[in-house]
Amino acid sequence: MARARLSLPGGVNSPVRSFSAVGGTPPFFERAEGQFLFDIDGNRYLDMVLAYGPLILGHLHPAVVAAVGRQLQLGEAFGGPTEAESELAEQICRRMPNLEMVRLVNSGTEAAMSAVRLARGITGRDVVVKFAGCYHGHSDAMLAQAGSGVATLSIPGSPGVPRGTVADTVVLPFNDLDAVSALFSREGPRIAAVIVEPVPGNMGVVLPRDGFLPLLRDLTAAQGSVLIFDEVITGFRVSSGGAQGLFGIEPDLTCLGKVIGGGLPVGAFGGSREIMSHLAPEGPVYQAGTLSGNPLAVAAGLATLALLQGDGPYQELEARGALLESGILAAAQKSGVPVQVNRLGSMLTVYLTESPVTDYPTAMTADRTRFAALHHDLLRRGVFWPPSGYESAFLSLRHERSDVEAVVKSFAAGFEALAANSAP
Ligand code: PMP
Repeated sequence: MARARLSLPGGVNSPVRSFSAVGGTPPFFERAEGQFLFDIDGNRYLDMVLAYGPLILGHLHPAVVAAVGRQLQLGEAFGGPTEAESELAEQICRRMPNLEMVRLVNSGTEAAMSAVRLARGITGRDVVVKFAGCYHGHSDAMLAQAGSGVATLSIPGSPGVPRGTVADTVVLPFNDLDAVSALFSREGPRIAAVIVEPVPGNMGVVLPRDGFLPLLRDLTAAQGSVLIFDEVITGFRVSSGGAQGLFGIEPDLTCLGKVIGGGLPVGAFGGSREIMSHLAPEGPVYQAGTLSGNPLAVAAGLATLALLQGDGPYQELEARGALLESGILAAAQKSGVPVQVNRLGSMLTVYLTESPVTDYPTAMTADRTRFAALHHDLLRRGVFWPPSGYESAFLSLRHERSDVEAVVKSFAAGFEALAANSAP
């Protein structure tokens, strides 16, 4: 880490990896296999991070390795169209019937940034509504956080983001139906888009309240605004049709990433033929990418999706997820540590708090100091859990029942240690 910090800011290429939220230094990884990670010191970890979501089949699934290997014999990148890109687009559209066309990009950030541009381009309006605690990548307009109160003036979430860039980004509390209704009755005709993680994973996992997503659908439809579901995490993670399939809601645009790249860099956004035809070169809204639709990434994505047919894989993930949730809750109860577990299928967050977590402020009630201690305890016991209390942990199809039991056992020991430390 000392060496890394000399040449890489914070020693990493994405902040959460630095362990700044939990202290100490991260393990440096050398290789992975199935549900396990191995660091350069020879330690093995059960991987509950899975590269923050993509690796739903686990690491180095033989089908993915073979597909990427085959493509590597044929070429890395061509700077021209390939049949495989159409195949991946068709596979995505088949699973999300609401999508008729997609554009492949290189990251979730690009997907969300471009979807917002398209929405503004189509509507000729500027205002974009997002929700506090939802993350849509690090493009300037999406780095706005909530000011105090409801729908107040947005302040930039990072130095370097000009006030003007986020002036048209309105931040509302997630799950707050009244706030959304009030904004739409005041500003409806100025709203280009509402962008939302249908099941947020970036303040930790939070479930949408009954009626919240349908309200977003109704209000945007009534006002001619574009509803964007950011399914970068949930897409093909929570069901074979993503969160939109699960909740039966059809957004106008959908952002994808993670799972559809099988561990290689990919993003995508898609919608109806009508909407997508506004995108260059068919339409005037510009978007491009040197490595977009990269053959290696497309091969990995296709191989991954091929193994995610129907409900079977998701029932398996649900069963493992339920086991993990109930095990962690039972262990917490036994040691008297207050926790909330929010889970949908194979995505799950453990919040060290007494209050139910339904939005960003309630997520912030979780105890960071205790989480840091718990994280390091888990790591010592060979469990790589997300190094922040506000990320989702993930399960893959390679996680066996015995792996889940091992994680629960580590949590039980971790909770006991927390309880002992806080004993008078
Ligand atoms: N949207 C969501 C919902 C995400 O979870 C993420 C990444 N965690 C992004 C967008 C950005 O994706 P990327 O990191 O690939 O740019």
